[in-house]
Parts: sequence; C-alpha cells; structure tokens
Amino acid sequence: MYIFPTVESLQKWVKHQRKQNKIIGFVPTMGALHAGHLSLIEQAKQQSDVCIVSIFVNPTQFNDPADLERYPRKDSEDIAQLKKQKVDALFFPSVEEMYPEGTEIKKVYDFGNLATVMEGEHRKGHFEGVAQVVNLLLEQTTPDKLFMGQKDYQQVAIIKQLIKLEEKNIELIACPTIREIDGLAMSSRNALLTETERPQAPKIQEALQMLKANYQKILLTKALKEAIAHIETNTDMKVEYLTVSDALTLEKAEKWDNFENLVACTAVHLGKVRLIDNILIS
Ligand code: AMP
Repeated sequence: MYIFPTVESLQKWVKHQRKQNKIIGFVPTMGALHAGHLSLIEQAKQQSDVCIVSIFVNPTQFNDPADLERYPRKDSEDIAQLKKQKVDALFFPSVEEMYPEGTEIKKVYDFGNLATVMEGEHRKGHFEGVAQVVNLLLEQTTPDKLFMGQKDYQQVAIIKQLIKLEEKNIELIACPTIREIDGLAMSSRNALLTETERPQAPKIQEALQMLKANYQKILLTKALKEAIAHIETNTDMKVEYLTVSDALTLEKAEKWDNFENLVACTAVHLGKVRLIDNILIS
C-alpha cells in the first residue's frame, strides 16, 4: 500500500492511474477505523479498479475544541488494517499540508435547509468544515466513485449537493450503517464511552426502532415523546434532537403523512460523548 503524506505525491500517483483509465474509488475517513469504515472500503474495492482511503482529522469541522482534542487516533493500527484490506493508497496529510494558507473557510456553499436543520443547527459551522475538506479531498483524489456511510445521513445529503454545485462527475455511493451486536451504530467515538456508559448506548437504536414501529399507529408527536423517554429514562443520556423529516429534503415532518419517505435522525449526549444515529421509517 502506498502512503502519501503530501498532495504532490498523491496527485502524481493519481495521474498515473488516470492515464491507465482506472476507475478510482475513494473513502474519506477520520481514522480510528472500525468495521463501518471497512465496509465502505470493501464496497470501494468491489466497485472500482483502485481504492484510495484518506485519514484526516479535519479541525475545521469540529465546533467543540474539546471534541477535537479527545478524538481517538490510532495511526499504526489503522495503517495495519488498511494494508490487510489491500487498499491501494492511503492519503494521510497533516493539517499544514491540507491547509497551507490556514484553515479559514473561503468558499461558502448554499445547501439551503439541508445544512440548517439537525446537525447544522446544533453544530454551528460543522457542515462548512465538512464541505471545505471534502471538496479539497475530491480535487486531490479525483475519484469516479465516493463511498460514504448512511450513519451520517445528513452529511450524505450535503455531499450529494456539493457534488452537484461543484458540477463534478462523481457517483456517491451511500453504504448501510454497520452496527455492534446490540444495535449500537459503530463509531470511532464509541471507544470514548466508559464501562457504565457503553451498555446504555443501544437504547438509541432501540428508540428509533420503537418510533418506526409506531409509524401511522399513534400521533407522530406522541411517538417522538415515547422514543425520547426510552432513551432518557434511567440512563445518563440526553437527547439533543430527535427529528422525523422528509428523507430527501430533510424538511421536518409534523405528521406521519406530511411526506412519503421519512427518516428519523437523532443526536444523543452520553457522558462526554455525542452519538448520532438514524432510521428510515417509510
Ligand atoms: P468518520 O471517520 O467518522 O468521518 O467516517 C468516515 C466514513 O465512514 C463516513 O462516510 C461515515 O459515514 C462512515 N461510517 C462511520 N461509521 C459507520 C458505520 N457504523 N457504518 C457505515 N459507515 C460508517
């Protein structure tokens, strides 16, 4: 596996692949790899000729400096895993390499409603940082196919829009959420949960399943209340938001029949860790 710490070295290799008409699959990550990331890599390998993975903990998408400080880093384990997966190239830049002129955001996109609800409302500046880094990474890696996880449902919607706005010819493939046996969505942040917190975390997915089971059976407002109570009762958890929306536009639903296709998304604080999850309802 090639490991490229600089844009120049990466681009030289990418150019060579392009010349050979290789289909490039790209999986951007922030490292501390788990089975969720590996599932994206597996898809990228199956659907492309060459697979590039990036590991970059992007400071500009962290609205909370303590969250960035705490973010798990497992560089040597990650590299070993990627080699085992037979990834072709790892792009592993430093912050200075990615942002030689500083981290200030120069290009602001209009994502409309997509960027102002849920994560956009509660993590100010988060999606500006995500769009900034993903656009840079797409320019550097020039993929034909981009693989992202449905676990970050709103992020997928934003990046789809980014690709449109930038008029890039890239296919975005959204891959299903990989879960622990007890239903908890895999996340690099799960490693930060304490021994007493970890057993509480599956309540998030349980609540989303309950909500889905109540589809069209009881009022949406009542179903949301029950789901929030399931998460918060007798736990250390606090729901930041739990929203049912149009699965495409992310416009908030007040009633089940507001939209044909619904998604429920949530963010929950458990101790110092913020967890997100979602479920397709209809
Ligand atoms: P991250 O390293 O958290 O930025 O995630 C990198 C990519 O992996 C993103 O596209 C995430 O949506 C995806 N991802 C994270 N967790 C999971 C999971 N449990 N299942 C599937 N994809 C995931």
